[in-house]
Amino acid sequence: MLQDILPHRLDLSYHPSSIGTESRALVFEGEKLLAAAQGGALGLPRVSDCSFSGRSVWLFRLDQTDFFLLDPPVRADGYTMLPVSALRRCPVTKELSFAAMTGYQLYKWYRDNRFCGRCGAPLAPACNERALRCDCCGNVIYPKISPVVIVGVTDGDRLLMTRYAKGEYRNWALVAGFVEVGETPEDAVHREVLEETGIRIKNPRYVAAQPWAFSDSLLLGFFAELDGSDKITLQESELSQAAWIPRAEIRHRPEDFSLTGDLIDRFVRGEMPN
Ligand SMILES: [Zn+2]
Repeated sequence: MLQDILPHRLDLSYHPSSIGTESRALVFEGEKLLAAAQGGALGLPRVSDCSFSGRSVWLFRLDQTDFFLLDPPVRADGYTMLPVSALRRCPVTKELSFAAMTGYQLYKWYRDNRFCGRCGAPLAPACNERALRCDCCGNVIYPKISPVVIVGVTDGDRLLMTRYAKGEYRNWALVAGFVEVGETPEDAVHREVLEETGIRIKNPRYVAAQPWAFSDSLLLGFFAELDGSDKITLQESELSQAAWIPRAEIRHRPEDFSLTGDLIDRFVRGEMPN
């Protein structure tokens, strides 16, 4: 998966350091990222490539390299603003793609939390942790992480696969949805599968997780088994298609670094937990 970057390590412990010319620069504007298209790949600038006069915010460290968020406008010869969605196909090295995606989530958090939601005063970074603090009322805001469940529902040699009705992703996927307030992930697995497909499940088993910056999420992957009728009733607002696909008809997707792809591969290999 995208976050599996060993022997590299993304260190998210909060130890801000000074910006240096060898630091990596992450510059976002809306859904675009400052990068250089190099053939089919993307290049990301170092601070020494950039001319800027705005704010820089320390983000995290990848191996020995500190990453900084630079406020636009930033000029860097050979670099231009490109869609951040390209990162999901891992166009730079895997460790740089994962770092840039994580930076994108933090960029959105800083962008969307400039003022206190409780009293309206400006927020400032806390000094000892990754948080924003209101000096007026004491409110502390941490980065938002919205848990999502992704579910591989099995019936013997068949997997319940779906296609989303909205968004860019048009490949076969799995039932997925946000965990609601007051739910456990297992509750969400039962509810989402029933809502989206009309299918009842049993024996949900947690498999693996993936941080997913595009929806500010932590994706939680499960397998579960059909319980009762296999008749699908499609929730058309969420899905354009849902079907039971035999194992022999499911293809491996080598360009897919997602938890969905990982779950599908595990099913094809017969590697599901009991
Ligand atoms: Zn406040």
